[in-house]
Amino acid sequence: MLIISHSKVRELLPMRDCMEVVGDALSDLSHGEGVQPLRSGILRPDRGGVLAWMPGSLAAGRPFGIKVLSVVDNPGELGVESHQGGVMIFDTATGAPLALCEAGAITAVRTAAVSALATDRLARTESEILAILGAGAQASSHIEAMLEVREISSIRVWSRDAEKVRRFAEEQTNRFGVTVEPAASVASAVTGADIVCTTTSAREPILFAEMLEPGMHINAVGASIPSWREIDTDILPRVTLFTDRRESLANEAGEYIKGLEEGFIETGLVVPEIGEVLNDDHPGRTSETEITLFRSLGLAVEDIASAQLVYERAIARNIGTSVDLDS
Ligand code: NDP
Repeated sequence: MLIISHSKVRELLPMRDCMEVVGDALSDLSHGEGVQPLRSGILRPDRGGVLAWMPGSLAAGRPFGIKVLSVVDNPGELGVESHQGGVMIFDTATGAPLALCEAGAITAVRTAAVSALATDRLARTESEILAILGAGAQASSHIEAMLEVREISSIRVWSRDAEKVRRFAEEQTNRFGVTVEPAASVASAVTGADIVCTTTSAREPILFAEMLEPGMHINAVGASIPSWREIDTDILPRVTLFTDRRESLANEAGEYIKGLEEGFIETGLVVPEIGEVLNDDHPGRTSETEITLFRSLGLAVEDIASAQLVYERAIARNIGTSVDLDS
């Protein structure tokens, strides 16, 4: 089995290539190929975070595997990544473990890659102003991903700590060569934005209906636990909703579950999956003024497809640490 570290995953998994493999996995899944149960997890008794495990299988003949993650509540204070763990993939023919890839790097890239696919299909073609809410790992990878799919001329970032946002904006400007400006409030970040990415660990809503503008596209990435909400339920009647997996939306998305209870979502609404849009089974955006919202929950097949690509490239380039588990 090959063990592949964070820096090597980043080296072997460029955003554009990740978009291709996760797109294939989501497209297969929406065609009924592959296996994708809901994620499971436990809340630690000390309430410092969660342990989550996400199994799944790509289509027949391709690897299956599992991501195991520890997600701490206060990564900034501890000076650690929010998502720590591994993605383990197995060979379909023999059942043997192939690789254990560092999960934080895979999660950062694959989540943003999925948002990029959604944005490419759902945002208006001329979208150029980007608002990012949050200033952590997903915020950074979402800037990278949005630059892949639209000619972005202006980026605003908001997070709750002004000094952190200032530092983050400076780092991202240097990294991507596009000016990233700190915003003083959520409202000032999103006013006039064509694309909004919500990438915070907020448990209560930070984005509200009055902040939406015609033609916007939103990638809602945080709050993957039913009791948490990053976007308010009053947004739901205003948008055309898309998701990565209907079953995940119904069981894991707090604003969707509450929105159904509160009558903000019509009972029986079939929310299109992004795989269906990629397969041309759904048209995606249908007008310039429509507000589209892609609700990302995150799926193991995205991790496994990314890990397969990382593993194949690591073998080809002789990268990683090989461990003989049977010796
Ligand atoms: P990070 O810890 O790196 O960043 C989190 C950001 O959210 C920081 O800017 C943090 O600010 C901010 N934040 C934390 N608490 C609050 C709050 N109560 N209100 C407003 N902002 C807050 O995490 P990641 O970037 O790795 O993950 C971001 C979110 O995305 C999480 O909710 C995570 O669960 C989710 N996620 C979703 C995935 C998916 O597939 N949909 C995959 C991976 C993550 P500060 O620095 O001040 O603490």
